[in-house]
Amino acid sequence: MQRENDNPPMTDPTQDRGATADPAADAVPLRPSAGDAGQNGNANPFGGLKIDFGGADPAATAPAAAGAPPATSFGAPIAMIGDSAEAAPLVGGPHDGASGGGRTESKVLIIGSGPAGLTAAIYAARANLQPIVLAGSEAGGQLMLTSDVENYPGFPEGIDGPDLMNRFRDQAARFGSTLVDVDIDRVDFSSRPFRVWARGVEYRGESVIVATGASALWLGLESETRLRGRGVSACATCDGFFFRDKEIAVVGGGDTALEEATYLTRFASKVHLLHRRESFRASAIMVDRAYDNPKIEVHTNTAVEEVLGGAKVEGLRLRDTSTDAVTDVAMEGLFVAIGYRPNTEVFKDWLDVDEKGYLVVRDETGSKIEGVFIAGDVHDHRYRQAVTAAGDGCKAAIDAERWLESQGISEATTATAW
Ligand code: NAP
Repeated sequence: MQRENDNPPMTDPTQDRGATADPAADAVPLRPSAGDAGQNGNANPFGGLKIDFGGADPAATAPAAAGAPPATSFGAPIAMIGDSAEAAPLVGGPHDGASGGGRTESKVLIIGSGPAGLTAAIYAARANLQPIVLAGSEAGGQLMLTSDVENYPGFPEGIDGPDLMNRFRDQAARFGSTLVDVDIDRVDFSSRPFRVWARGVEYRGESVIVATGASALWLGLESETRLRGRGVSACATCDGFFFRDKEIAVVGGGDTALEEATYLTRFASKVHLLHRRESFRASAIMVDRAYDNPKIEVHTNTAVEEVLGGAKVEGLRLRDTSTDAVTDVAMEGLFVAIGYRPNTEVFKDWLDVDEKGYLVVRDETGSKIEGVFIAGDVHDHRYRQAVTAAGDGCKAAIDAERWLESQGISEATTATAW
């Protein structure tokens, strides 16, 4: 079989994001998530950052190359599935409002309230820095869209993503962080104190920790949004377990899609990898591994037109991008793995971004501006785990504290006593 590939092999294509525990219980349906609300679903905690969740350009329509892999089948076509049940109520959600309100000046301003931002807040608060966290209007980051989190240490039974983030938040507030659920509009890092504007209010910080995270891209289908948390997911590591012995699909042609497809074979009876073009963006070794995996069936030139099902995913409407033929196929889950977008828009005039749009860190958590630190998925496109983001937040807070001490802004008492 011919396998086309746009990229040279990567040096570390096997890095394992799949640390999910594998308990023996039977698969259960995904619970509804906070992300079910909103047109594009991935509730954006940083509305002021102008993040586009509309998905990428339509598929390129390319005729099948000579010698391309033979067309694969999904089994028998299915009948149209009727619409039905109303969405179930949402579970979890951020705490409302600010705590310790009114303050607009701090030694540490933290932007973002996922695991990185809130861990930074816990550490900074315990160092008596009284941080202000600009948490976003829909605070909590990507975990607010996640059902059971089974790989966060300390929760052997697993924990709901929103519950976990509420605990982070309580812990940050307990030590004196001020949490303000606002989206930031713009920043000025030209001089100290650094200035950040949110909903017309100017916040000032002697130091800043940027922890605005990254957001998964979605296809932009109404049915995809409606069924998110009911069979549609963007995180195999988070939700794969719920698809034990089920036939599911992964959409995308990059390393994430190939990696997620391979990971999901631990659970699913069959994984259909759907890619809109003939050639893959993913590294060759990942593509080879997918073709070689008996549980993965690769479908190139295949676009998802619709997710079918009322209360949960029951099928997909697919279009052959080379012939425009449309087919409905039975499927119990869809993993969307078409890339991530870091939430960096408002920082682009001030901080360096790499070719993928992620912030560039210097010396672990630093940036090109002294006193501005970076933590979590906003710079990390490699690990993207809650626990790595939390670790990053811890490091950024320690670095900020040490830097403030070096500037004589805070007392040199806490840097080694967290
Ligand atoms: P990516 O490389 O940008 O690939 C995104 C894929 O999704 C592309 O194949 C693209 O199709 C497809 N796509 C985009 N929009 C779509 C839409 N609306 N409908 C259907 N398909 C769509 O993103 P990624 O896979 O998340 O990888 C991001 C970066 O992280 C890459 O540099 C990757 O190498 C890296 N990464 C590395 C590892 C690892 O080292 N183990 C693991 C994961 C990711 P087209 O090809 O047609 O544009």
